[in-house]
Amino acid sequence: MSVSAQSGAQSETLFPRPPVLFCDFDGTITLSDNIVAIMQKYKPKGVEAIIDEIVSETKSIRQGVGEMFALLPSSLKEEIRSFVIETAGIRPGFAELLAWCKEHDVPFYVTSGGIDFFVYPLLEPFGIPADHIYCNGSDFEGERIRITWPHACDEKCDNDCGMCKVSVIRRFTRDDYYRILIGDSVTDFAGAKLADLVFSRSHLTNKCRELGLPHIPFETFHDIVRHLDQGGMAR
Ligand SMILES: [Mg+2]
Ligand SMILES: [Zn+2]
Repeated sequence: MSVSAQSGAQSETLFPRPPVLFCDFDGTITLSDNIVAIMQKYKPKGVEAIIDEIVSETKSIRQGVGEMFALLPSSLKEEIRSFVIETAGIRPGFAELLAWCKEHDVPFYVTSGGIDFFVYPLLEPFGIPADHIYCNGSDFEGERIRITWPHACDEKCDNDCGMCKVSVIRRFTRDDYYRILIGDSVTDFAGAKLADLVFSRSHLTNKCRELGLPHIPFETFHDIVRHLDQGGMAR
């Protein structure tokens, strides 16, 4: 993958450097968190304690997500996939945001802590290139669901993220890119600290406030497009 800054062909934006977008999936592109929805539907024994530990950051996301899915039998694969496709709504304005990125030659990456078997089908209608979608993998060969981690933390991240957003973001150097993160929750905390600008919802808004990170709360992707058009400064 080439990550060198483009020159010449870049359409003008009002950002100081060429922007690149890193967008969370669960609870950001989709209206709610699909892993939480799956666990609330199937309620495997012991799952609540694991969720509490992830939210309170006493258990790493990788360990917690792995443990939760290991509570579910592999035979549920198709049922879970259908459940997510039928129940996960896409946040309004997502197609418009993708169109904005295309129009301005701005790279758009999905950086998801979600799992491939529901992330890819839900994104299918939007035509995002596969190599612009980062998420976790899954293995249904054993009796229980095993999550795989093709994009685990690099040597500079000791957060045990699972899908390591900061490892992806770091490939785009701050000198060359204006790094914009869009997200809502705990899987976005580490990436938010690296980004030049954060579009935040929910827990991520609170975290950005707490840490004093530059952030713009949003509700729909239409809000984000409006801010991007004005270099992040729209009021
Ligand atoms: Mg999320
Ligand atoms: Zn990491």
